[in-house]
Amino acid sequence: MDPIFLTVVVPLYNEAAVLPLLVDRLRPVLDDLGRSYEVVAVDDGSTDTTAAVLSRFSRQWPQLRIVRLRANAGHQAAISAGLERSRGAWVVTIDADLQDPPETIREMIDAALRERVDVVYGVRTDRSSDTAFKRHTAAAFYRLVGGISGTNAPRDAGDFRLMSRATVDAVNTLPEANRVLRLVVPTLGFPSAEVGYRRAERAAGSSKYPLSKMLKLSIDSITGFSMAPLRLATWFGLGGFAIAVALLAYAIISKVVGNTTPGWTSTLLVVAGFGGLQLLCLGILGEYVGRVYLQQQQRPTYYVGYDSLLAPPPSDDAD
Ligand code: UDP
Ligand code: MG
Repeated sequence: MDPIFLTVVVPLYNEAAVLPLLVDRLRPVLDDLGRSYEVVAVDDGSTDTTAAVLSRFSRQWPQLRIVRLRANAGHQAAISAGLERSRGAWVVTIDADLQDPPETIREMIDAALRERVDVVYGVRTDRSSDTAFKRHTAAAFYRLVGGISGTNAPRDAGDFRLMSRATVDAVNTLPEANRVLRLVVPTLGFPSAEVGYRRAERAAGSSKYPLSKMLKLSIDSITGFSMAPLRLATWFGLGGFAIAVALLAYAIISKVVGNTTPGWTSTLLVVAGFGGLQLLCLGILGEYVGRVYLQQQQRPTYYVGYDSLLAPPPSDDAD
């Protein structure tokens, strides 16, 4: 069999509505490359008809390979599953909802070959199609994570990215669970380039990134790259201790002077203030302890139900 030039990894979570549009746009681009390719569609435990629609398309599109995860493992884990199964000399990861234009894949490959780099980041030059909320939270995310983690991830680069085989192999050997690929890849130090693209509207369906998943991504990004919050907790602790000492001195002096009519406001403030601070610091500690705990279990972050390369998908006649 010919070596595969390009693997396209597409994570899909309940994307039945957008799938036909995706196939319509993606397939011509890939066919026109004039190179061998495979599409690894990672069905991230979808509960809609994504699995059935995928297997229907795979019958007319031999290059479409389906990897189904048994349960929803999340965007990053789904991409990881695709990367680990990819066979191409180059691998591009792209969202299913056509927010990342498939046509840009060609520009990415040209840039990689022309500039002789291993990684080409798709950088969003125009996010006007995203909601104001998404844009602001995303901007805050990149600023915060960039500042705290000290990573050199390009701003406004999501997971639309072309990587060489060497890069993908390096990513696949990383044992870290809950990794945030857009931050991990830049730290590997491969030469890289950027290609700008206009972030389009989601073509169909609705976002599969509720606030809870955005928060998880942010916390993983920070705790995965930085001890700064732990150090912050230490500074809080030191500051709190200094204030406590000062209050104690004040209390003793008041007692000596005989001026002991303290109001409950100050008491309440101190109790509530320190209580809040302690809970915050405990929470920060908990995030890191939790991360260590999850990591030492060495459990995979996803479980593969089937891979159409190895066995045909179960019959979808039922639906
Ligand atoms: N996705 C996934 N698993 C999830 C959530 C999302 O595989 O648990 C996929 C989703 O199908 C899409 C991509 O990740 O291909 C980006 O998700 P989405 O477009 O919903 O995120 P948004 O663009 O709203 O941030
Ligand atoms: Mg999207």
